[in-house]
Amino acid sequence: MTTTPHRVVIVGAGFGGLETTYRLTGAPVEITLIDRRNHHLFQPLLYQVATASLATSEIAWPVRHLMRDRREVTTLFATVSGVDAERRCVLIDDGSEVPYDTLVLATGARHAYFGHDEWEQWAPGLKTLEDGTTLRRHILVAFERAERETDPARRAARLTFAIIGAGPTGVEMAGTIAEMAHHTLPDDFRNIDTRKARVVLIEAGPRVLAGFADDLSAYAQASLEKIGVEVVLGQPVTDIDREGVVYGGQRLNAKTRIWAAGVRASPAAEWLGAPADRAGRVQVEADLTIPGHPEIFAIGDTVSINAWEGKPVPGIAPAAKQQGRHVAETIKARLRGQATGQFRYKHAGSLAQIGKRLAVIDFGRIKLRGAIAWWIWGIAHIYFLIGLRHRLSVALSWLWIYARDQRAARLITQGSSKVV
Ligand SMILES: Cc1cc2nc3c(=O)[nH]c(=O)nc-3n(C[C@H](O)[C@H](O)[C@H](O)COP(=O)(O)OP(=O)(O)OC[C@H]3O[C@@H](n4cnc5c(N)ncnc54)[C@H](O)[C@@H]3O)c2cc1C
Repeated sequence: MTTTPHRVVIVGAGFGGLETTYRLTGAPVEITLIDRRNHHLFQPLLYQVATASLATSEIAWPVRHLMRDRREVTTLFATVSGVDAERRCVLIDDGSEVPYDTLVLATGARHAYFGHDEWEQWAPGLKTLEDGTTLRRHILVAFERAERETDPARRAARLTFAIIGAGPTGVEMAGTIAEMAHHTLPDDFRNIDTRKARVVLIEAGPRVLAGFADDLSAYAQASLEKIGVEVVLGQPVTDIDREGVVYGGQRLNAKTRIWAAGVRASPAAEWLGAPADRAGRVQVEADLTIPGHPEIFAIGDTVSINAWEGKPVPGIAPAAKQQGRHVAETIKARLRGQATGQFRYKHAGSLAQIGKRLAVIDFGRIKLRGAIAWWIWGIAHIYFLIGLRHRLSVALSWLWIYARDQRAARLITQGSSKVV
């Protein structure tokens, strides 16, 4: 007599979903891995696509290819629109359904505009590869338009970059744009001095990199200012339009605006009618299951759980991976009829790059800054990329930037010079 394998459906091939899939290797399960993108994206380096430092293919991998040796894994390129928990099936937006015995929702989050969704058109955020190439286009086009602009005020606005939010992404974007303007671009233009570009980093809170220790925040701010970034603290942005941003009652004319503040979870909580926090994150049980549904797990950026010594687990890649690992172990233990435990998050540290040779690392008791932190930051990121080819390619791109200040991916795509 043959028994039907346990059917696990995993929605989302990001950090959490992929880790769950990997950790279920060898288990007596049949896995369906669903993602609306055909690739896994290494979001921590997405800002390097936006700033022309890396090409898109250096930080993304086709999911189907990653799963080529896993005969028990079926990859579906599809968008999930809901879950029928009664009938135990995932609803796809084309009307089809995928049945499951165990469901893992790992659908992540997107940037949020604090109730001002209309700002998105003027200040795009960074989440997908398309966001990365769109921002790259905005940044490179700004310099091109400034080169042809004869009116000084309009040229100044073209050369002003406003970045809203001074978390790691805002800091990394601001630092890299400033370095591009000062070191990469000057020789390439004839009518403008790109070193005169203004990069303004606007933060509502009292310091940059709020998740880091105070002294590392202060170091990051001083380093940013040294490489030419204007840091504005304690000023929430109150308006954004096609000409610029308003904060502290004053207007900054900036033709390029980048949103790096606030996230909102995927609608997983809505699909299940489950309790959620203000950012829409599902409030899961201690073992990462949905209240009342032990057969449904939710992990990563789409959940809220106080499993870091009683504190909320941060929305970062290692947390999603640890949760993915926990869910895989729980599924395997259940199939063996063994007891399962609660999820506990272990924080390894926080890292942020500020500039070409500058980074900060907060390991708790050990804090690093400057060039040494930058090398560790670089090695850590290369280590976490998938596959030798990607590691070598990224390492080479970085060495080129380090040694020559040249950024290979300075391509304006998605339209000709006629498209704004
Ligand atoms: C710009 C940026 C920089 C970051 N930098 C860092 C950093 O330096 N260090 C760090 O640790 N973390 C960083 N993070 C956070 C980190 O990327 C996230 O915490 C991590 O990706 C969360 O993993 P996840 O699996 O929950 O979601 P994700 O990795 O976002 O994956 C979610 C997946 O679900 C898919 N999906 C969503 N909805 C659907 C649907 N309806 N149907 C089908 N598929 C769907 C998506 O396509 C995606 O592939 C950064 C994030 C961003 C955006």
